Amino acid sequence: MSLDEFSLIERIRARTVARADIVLGIGDDAALLQMPPGQQLVVTADTLNAGVHFPVQTLPADIGWKALAVNLSDLAAMGARPAWCTLALSLPAAEPHWIDAFAEGFFALADAHGMALVGGDTTRGPLSISITAMGWVPQGGALRRDGARVGDDIWVTGIPGEAAAALALWQAGKLDVAAVAAAPERELLRQRLLRPVPRLPASQRLHGIARSCVDVSDGLLADLGHICTRSGVGAEVWLERLPRSPALAALADAEQRRQWQLAGGDDYELCFTAPPQLREQVALAMEFAATPASRIGRITATLQVLALDASGVPWQPPRAGYNHFA
Ligand code: ADP
Ligand code: MG
Repeated sequence: MSLDEFSLIERIRARTVARADIVLGIGDDAALLQMPPGQQLVVTADTLNAGVHFPVQTLPADIGWKALAVNLSDLAAMGARPAWCTLALSLPAAEPHWIDAFAEGFFALADAHGMALVGGDTTRGPLSISITAMGWVPQGGALRRDGARVGDDIWVTGIPGEAAAALALWQAGKLDVAAVAAAPERELLRQRLLRPVPRLPASQRLHGIARSCVDVSDGLLADLGHICTRSGVGAEVWLERLPRSPALAALADAEQRRQWQLAGGDDYELCFTAPPQLREQVALAMEFAATPASRIGRITATLQVLALDASGVPWQPPRAGYNHFA
């Protein structure tokens, strides 16, 4: 069975709930939303294309989850509370079971974070999911990329590198993205790729503590580089301080792990800077948010982003064309 555009939209609309800040949700020409007083609107958009941002074999529930997760991660990086989103879907066919599974993954994450779907667009075409996410921050309270200062500590939440490892396994034909992996470490990596958990609780605790913040989507050094460029500073990351991952250790040697941890993508962790005097506050904030975080380096005046080993030798990323499993 295939659905027409309107029954398809109705299937999605049926999963939404009424809320006081949504004067008009799905159903009119546009949504009508009520901002709370004293808050600034934070807006971000991210698109996932099949075969580019996720393997074509990815299950619809995982696609629904991840499409929203990457947007929530951007809101987390700004210190924003999720509020509203729109969903633009391009679908090759309107299969009801595909839509229902997609909605299951999407709304599991949306409902957990108070994110309301208020509109969107539905067209026929290659599979592509485009979400615009909106959230609120108290006036002037956003966590930005341009606030880092020389001497700041550099922190990262969670364990970067695990999603990149999962992707490499999949590319080498050693991981099925659409089936639970038999080995527990493999399954953990698979989840990290398909079901990233946006660091919203941590970000809410960083107000008044972090001076700058970015979410890690393109690799830790690259995204830390964005903080440095916007702040007019440099950074050194200490290799021996990178958080250890048993799943990565079981899979690859130290050099390969570094490559994944520093230059892999799809982590959706937060990288932030804070003054050294606030180390205890950071630790406490992360404890309250039940979010592991590691202090991995410091902001420098050099304008370079370096990853240093214990003897101060900078890590050189392998040349392009490097093959993880050759
Ligand atoms: P219009 O032609 O005026 O743009 P549509 O027929 O495209 O209206 O959409 C009807 C309503 O359904 C609108 O409120 C729109 O925001 C909503 N909508 C369409 N597609 C989606 C979707 N994929 N997810 C959520 N809401 C959607
Ligand atoms: Mg439309």
